[in-house]
Amino acid sequence: MSTTVPLNAQVCNLDSLPSPPHVAIKVIELSKDQDKGVRDLSDVLSLDSALSAAILRIANSTAYSRGRVIDSIHQAVSVMGAKATVAVALGFSLKQSFPSWSHPSGLSGELLWRRNVATAVASRSLVRLLGNGNEQRAFLCGLLSRIGQLVLHTAAKDAYERVLSESDTCFPSPELERKHCGLSHHEIAFTLLSHWKLPDDVCEAVRDWGEVVEGRKTDSPLTSIVTVADAVAGLLTGDNQALELERVRVLADSLLGITEHEIERMFMSSEEELKSTLSVFGDPHSDQINCEAILEEARQRLILMSIGLAADLATANNKSTQLEEANRSLVETANTDVLTRLPNRAALQKETDALWECWRRNPARRFAVVMMDIDHFKSFNDSKGHAAGDRVLQGVGRALRDVARGTDFVARYGGEEFTILLANAHPEQAAIAAERFRSAVENLKVSFEGETLSVTASFGVAFSGDIPEAQSFEEFVEAADKALYISKRGGRNRVSFYGPMHGA
Ligand code: GH3
Ligand code: MG
Ligand code: MG
Repeated sequence: MSTTVPLNAQVCNLDSLPSPPHVAIKVIELSKDQDKGVRDLSDVLSLDSALSAAILRIANSTAYSRGRVIDSIHQAVSVMGAKATVAVALGFSLKQSFPSWSHPSGLSGELLWRRNVATAVASRSLVRLLGNGNEQRAFLCGLLSRIGQLVLHTAAKDAYERVLSESDTCFPSPELERKHCGLSHHEIAFTLLSHWKLPDDVCEAVRDWGEVVEGRKTDSPLTSIVTVADAVAGLLTGDNQALELERVRVLADSLLGITEHEIERMFMSSEEELKSTLSVFGDPHSDQINCEAILEEARQRLILMSIGLAADLATANNKSTQLEEANRSLVETANTDVLTRLPNRAALQKETDALWECWRRNPARRFAVVMMDIDHFKSFNDSKGHAAGDRVLQGVGRALRDVARGTDFVARYGGEEFTILLANAHPEQAAIAAERFRSAVENLKVSFEGETLSVTASFGVAFSGDIPEAQSFEEFVEAADKALYISKRGGRNRVSFYGPMHGA
């Protein structure tokens, strides 16, 4: 029988446990004091040169700098805000205070840290996608989400080695941790973080997110966010990517009402932030991360698993590579428009079905439907020829894809019509996006048989909030179509909006 270690009692005074170094503690204290400003915070940070350097690197990373060069700590704190600075200061200090180690199971200090950082970045992106909550609070929670595993490994090394030996993954279940250590990494992290006087909702989310995995629903949005974010981070650090992807899809849908396409696009579009944040925290392999390749691999494995080929995959690698290829092209063919290589009507239908389900469960989720139709395309075909028309359609597809943001979904609706779904779009943002698409089409130049061809297109936009009583997704498409008709009547090459204010 394994001996249980009474870790709770040790946690507050054990020398070997990490504690935030004194500059980080000061930073936490200052951030709670409403009267102290950016100046005090930057003065304290300047006491620690390594920390200052890390803050400057983060402030200059893609997440914050937006192209500006930030060269003073004072400026960095102003740009990042106090909460983000605290998260970084704490994260950096923690990274420094854990010794490097690795276990035959594959778990190492580096891997755990990478999981924490990936969870932090994913948490922040999820808050951004959902448009509610505090991005920095979510980032901090993610950064601390698996800190308990580091603590258990430090405080109860032998017991935790037994946990790892018995577990079939490097991220053991809370039950297994309880069996050998007397408490789970969530529980020990809660004790430690409360002792450091971190905000209550952060401590509670770090304690509770593991329970969500076990099927208990939570009222805390932060807990749900971290649960989904940890699953997303599992795509980077987990042992079985197909199962990780399945978990991501299920959790995103059930806890946050996010479709599988939305969560996958979020994962891909946060790659740059992930790389720069990992590199700031000293990850030597951050530039090798390729989210699209990871996702593609996971998808293929999931398809193979779901059609019962997982076993063959292990034994007959050659055969399964061929099958994998065959399946890949089958799935792609079914969902891709041959001419433009954009998602086709069938793929759009799947996406809108999923979005509809999510919206029905959570009508606060905002989205916009944009319908687009090329102007006078019939006469274009008549004068330039059908082949020229095809080439222009391909160019239009590329132009739309090029200006689309990571979470936009661009599809060919049929003929010379396209549909764009904008996740989490407020009316003003959707208006800006639609204008970006319109001008991309207008500015497109297509060379064909010595000629330079160009077209314009008309747009109609409908917001989820326009039809709160909608009975089917089709109503949003019809509303966007009505707005599109207004654009046509108004002279084409323009954007119109559905709703009483806009005349559609
Ligand atoms: P409007 O500005 O009112 O939209 O005028 P329009 O001429 O674009 O509208 P209409 O619906 O009358 O014509 C659409 C044309 O789009 C007819 C068809 O020849 C062309 N079209 C649809 N699909 C394709 C395609 O795959 N390739 C080519 N080359 N043309 C296509
Ligand atoms: Mg048309
Ligand atoms: Mg047309």
